[in-house]
Order: sequence, then C-alpha cells, then structure tokens
Amino acid sequence: MNDLQLEMKFTGDPGRNRLRDTINAGEFTLLIESRSPAKDLDLAVGSERLAELEKCILAITGIPASLAVLDGGNSAEYWRAAEFVGALDPEERDRHLFYFGGRNTTASEMRQLTSLALSAGARNLVAVSGEAAAGEGLADTRRHHFFESRRMLSYWNAEREVPPTLFTGCAVNPFQYTAPSLFSQYANLIRKLHSGAQFVVTQAGWDMLKLQSLCWYLRSRAFYQPLIARLILLTPERVERILGGQEPGVTISKDFQRILDQELRFSRSQFEAAQWRRLELQAAGCRLLGFSGVQVSGANTPARIATVADRITSALQEFKNFNEWLEAYNSYQARAEMAPLSTSFYLYDRALLRAFPESPLKMNVPDPIEVTWGERFRYRLRHFLFPHADQQGASERQWLKRIFAGCGGCDRCRLVQCEFICPDHCPKHLANGPCGGIRPDGSCEIAGVGECIFRRQYRLADWRQHVLNWEDRVVPPGRTDEPGDANVPEIKTNR
Ligand code: SF4
Ligand code: SF4
Repeated sequence: MNDLQLEMKFTGDPGRNRLRDTINAGEFTLLIESRSPAKDLDLAVGSERLAELEKCILAITGIPASLAVLDGGNSAEYWRAAEFVGALDPEERDRHLFYFGGRNTTASEMRQLTSLALSAGARNLVAVSGEAAAGEGLADTRRHHFFESRRMLSYWNAEREVPPTLFTGCAVNPFQYTAPSLFSQYANLIRKLHSGAQFVVTQAGWDMLKLQSLCWYLRSRAFYQPLIARLILLTPERVERILGGQEPGVTISKDFQRILDQELRFSRSQFEAAQWRRLELQAAGCRLLGFSGVQVSGANTPARIATVADRITSALQEFKNFNEWLEAYNSYQARAEMAPLSTSFYLYDRALLRAFPESPLKMNVPDPIEVTWGERFRYRLRHFLFPHADQQGASERQWLKRIFAGCGGCDRCRLVQCEFICPDHCPKHLANGPCGGIRPDGSCEIAGVGECIFRRQYRLADWRQHVLNWEDRVVPPGRTDEPGDANVPEIKTNR
C-alpha cells in the first residue's frame, strides 16, 4: 500500500451517488454480496470475477440492484474491497457498496485505502471493525490490529477531501437476547450514528422480531437513517459453517435448526426450494417493517443472482399488506422459536403482531440487571484509586493499575470513561464496542475470554443509573503511535 497516490482525483461524477439517491427516494433496494478473495487468488482473476458479477447485477430490471463488496472477512490474507473498485464499470461505481474491515488495518492504511476507493469512484462505504479468524484464540487475536469502525466513520466524515456525495454506513448485530447485550449493542450503534454513519446494515439473522425492534428503537430515539437487512441464502454447507461457529455473530436457534434438518431430509433441490421461499418472505417482511433494502449473501453465480432478483421482485408484488405477509411468514416458519435462549429478552412485543408501534410505544422492562457484590467492590476500589487516570500519564501508578485493573500498558488511560474496566481486555482492543461477534449469551466471540467487556461496562453503568451518559462517551484508542492517528478527529468525553 506504500506507493499509493494519496491525492484524490475523482473518477466518475463526484456529484452523483445513485445508491444513496435510490435509497433516499424510498425505493426498496437489492444488494448482492460478494467477498473480496484470499490472496492465493490473483488480483486480476478476482477482478474479472467481480466484473462478471457486476454485469449480472446491472442486468437486473425489476428492482434497483447493486453490488456489495465485503472485505475478505476472517481469512488471514485477503485482497481489500477497496482494491476492486477499479475492476468495476467506471460509470457504475457510485451504485455499489464497499466494506472497510478494521482487521490488520492501521490508521495510515485506512487512509490509503479510502483514498484508493474514492479516487476510483466509490461513493458508498461501510465501516466494520473486523472479525477474528475461525478458531483463532486469544493470543492470536491480540496479535492483530483492529481499527475501530467508529473511528473510520469519524475520519470519513471529517475529511475535507471527500466527494460531497459520500454515503457512509455502519453495521449492527440486533440479534441479542439479553438486555445488557442488546442495550450495549444499541449504544455502540448510537455512537456510530453520532460519528457520521448515514445508514445501517444489520448482521444476518432470521428473527424478524429483532429486526422490527431495531427499527422501532431507532425511530423512538429520532434516528431515521435507512436500514438494510443482511439475509443469507442458506445451503447445507453454510448451515454447517454457522453451526460450527465460523460466522461470528450469526446464530441459528434450536427450533430453526430442527426445521432446517427436516428440510435437509428431502432432496437437495427441495432444500433449495425451501430456502428460496424463506428468502422471499424475509425480503418482503423487511420492506413491510420499514427497511430500505436487503443485502443478500450466498448468491455467487450469475444464475443465482438472477433468481434472487426474480424471487424478491415477485415477493414484493405478492405481499403488500403486513397481515397477509405475517400469516404466510408464521405458517412457513411453523411459528418456530427464533431465539437461541430459553429466557430471551425482547424490547417490545414478544411476538410479531403489528407493522407499526402502538402509541405510546411500550417497552418491556428487563429483569433487574445483575451486578455482583464483587463487581461493585472492584468498581469502588478502582474509582478510589484512579479517579483522574484519564488526566494523568498512562504510566503513572501503573503497577497499581496492573494489580487492581489488569492494566496491560497502553499509551492513554481510559479507565475513567470505561466504568473502570480496562478496554484493553477486549481481545480486539476495541474501545467503543461491542463488536458484532458477541455470542447470544453475552460471552466474547473469542473462546475463553468470558463475558464481553462492554456488556460488563453496561451493567455497571446501569447500576450507577447513568446509561445515557455512558452511551454518549466516545473513547479514544489506547495506542497513539500509529501513523495518521493525529488526523483522526478528536474525541468527545463526558464524565
Ligand atoms: S486503559 Fe487500561 S491498559 Fe491503558 S493505561 Fe489504563 S488500565 Fe492500563
Ligand atoms: S470483548 Fe466484546 S467487543 Fe471485544 S472481541 Fe469480545 S465480543 Fe467483541
């Protein structure tokens, strides 16, 4: 990346962004997802494949359609989505979506990739902090650098050299089934929206009630950014991958697994037919719930792309009314329980009942959130010992911080902003998480870490009755030696 030209000379019309305009005009949009390949595939070959997919997508007529290029994901070495912008038709690049993953990305590389993508004509970017590799342990994850998505959004939205039509998005995992996990995930989303996210893409899942809750929650907080639901077209192999934990943050409930097992007992073609119908129902439901579009994963051949477009177009024609859709959806899913836990928390209704919230909107009250005696004691002790740690040099009182806060030694102490739980305990060193890989029971994506640290922070903030203040904090990164960090806009901290 070192020899990239950083001056931005924009390709295409910098005043045009057809994806943003289509979504903002209320046209339900289809995005077909493709991952950038691993580096064992030649860049030129990968570019040709992507250009072929683009041609199929541009041929779709029944629904506005675009390509969403994901950053390779959790394989060790992969080409970056930004490196493929130039492979696409120069006149069409403003229609497509490009992901920026934070894994193995320094601030300087993020700037270079942004420059590369924008110069080549990309206008729609999504920031994600990145995933751990499949089976990766704590020590391995810690060796990688994860550039936080919130910081990317801040950078993109503060940078003066970007086209005025830049449309930046973020991701959220709404499939959370305990109150602390749900509220800490929502809090992170709100921070990203405050940092400049103009639209939101959800993690993939099958629980339509959780998608509806996300929509209602954001509207109740007066956030009206467009929402795009990520949907997976399942194959037997994909089901195995998900059940094997190879897609962090994607969950299949026991009931849903039972249904899939039944579908698998018949022939492969019957299994496929069942998945096409599921995709139709989900896509039509998303539109009726207020989503602006869907991003479909698993359509990786020209034939499948054409079928996805046909199926979704016809489903949008078939279901124009919420109640008709609900009846079809419930009978198809046989009212299966989509929640993976027996005591799952839902913020509003506990069943899909209506398209629009009642007025006034009633929230379910979660059970009291547990904070143990030990947690309260540790909080008070750290508060007593390090009340001004954020205003002191990070090395000050470090041996005490090591003993009482598990300090790993970063360059800027953030204990005070983090409910006195050191953010460096997150294996990805995220400061404003949680990431989308958090498991349904609230434990960290990385085995052996225990409860996600942001969920612990949330429980303490709830105990101290200042959740809104906690949500409002934007915590800086711990390392200040990355090239380019100075250009990342400064931090707002409220205490
Ligand atoms: S934030 Fe954590 S790692 Fe950094 S100085 Fe404070 S206690 Fe140590
Ligand atoms: S501690 Fe939370 S945010 Fe960090 S990697 Fe684990 S699940 Fe993700």
